[in-house]
Amino acid sequence: MKLLQPDVVLGGNVFCLTPALIRHYGLKGLVLDIDDTIVPVKTTEVSEQLVTWLAEIRQECQIWLVTNNPQKQRIAAIAHSLDLPYIMSAAKPSVRKLRVAVDDMGLPYSQVAMVGDRVFTDVLGGNRLGLLTILAQPISATASTSSFHLLRQIEFGLAKLSGVSLLATDLP
Ligand SMILES: [Mg+2]
Repeated sequence: MKLLQPDVVLGGNVFCLTPALIRHYGLKGLVLDIDDTIVPVKTTEVSEQLVTWLAEIRQECQIWLVTNNPQKQRIAAIAHSLDLPYIMSAAKPSVRKLRVAVDDMGLPYSQVAMVGDRVFTDVLGGNRLGLLTILAQPISATASTSSFHLLRQIEFGLAKLSGVSLLATDLP
């Protein structure tokens, strides 16, 4: 059960991850999930807010994108427009490809965080590798009643109930 617990639960989407929070945790590297973490699933365009946020975060951290998504054209387009290295079809929570990204950073694993919107892929994979794990709320603005979204709400609720999570809003 511990492997399903994120170290940090953000009070909102990924943009709640501030440079101050990154310094607070002594992070020098971030592995970012793509779908519903930095762009809504199915979207290829990157938002201005994302570009602005990344410009700030890059001054603190090395960044890799690691997604389970196999759609080469879309994922490559997103990574190229953000000028970030990426791995697709990563099969998180498998750690095999996650490790490739983290090893490329040349940092101690304790200084790297996995940031994503899913407990069973992002958090589990990050915890298995010994990274700090940060759970973000999905970036999609639209509410949905699909079972997919319902599952995510349950995951988020579980993570909050686990008791070890810190709300980013409690921190400087
Ligand atoms: Mg995701």
